[in-house]
Amino acid sequence: MDDLDDLDDLDDDDEVLELPGEHCACGYLHTGVVPPQLCLDCGDRAIARWRDEEKRALNLLPAYAADVERVLRETRDAQRKALRSRRGEPFSDADWELDKGGRRLARLRRAHRDELTRVGLDRWNELAGLVAHDRREVTRKTAKRMAKRGLGAAAMVELLHDGSVYYFQQPGRG
Ligand SMILES: [Zn+2]
Repeated sequence: MDDLDDLDDLDDDDEVLELPGEHCACGYLHTGVVPPQLCLDCGDRAIARWRDEEKRALNLLPAYAADVERVLRETRDAQRKALRSRRGEPFSDADWELDKGGRRLARLRRAHRDELTRVGLDRWNELAGLVAHDRREVTRKTAKRMAKRGLGAAAMVELLHDGSVYYFQQPGRG
């Protein structure tokens, strides 16, 4: 998974070995051919790989990474607070917090654009494109929206899923 040429290898239709416990119902894991919609397992793996690549890029840019980390922490806290609230519209409030975090990421990207030229984001963009094939509509939409905001986007998709845990715990929802 750490091999930077991993995705290229898949595109070249090389043999892909399935590790124990890795399942795939969409064929992508075995063929490397991206289907219109990935199965849930491939979707989760794609998000994890996107996030790993995001961490790799941010590790090269400590100041940017610290700013992104602060936005992620505050967004997560605000989202959880909204979801725990029994007043108002907790789910749309949580979504609004995610959106607000995304706008802050976009400002950070502009502020750090000179540093950003030092790291390649080709693979990050490639994996963002893969996550845009997720089976879950809300994941797809969030990934596409956040990818335009720059680094931190993959973490935002993870936060969306984090929030979904609360969502599905609500009585009468899912
Ligand atoms: Zn699959």
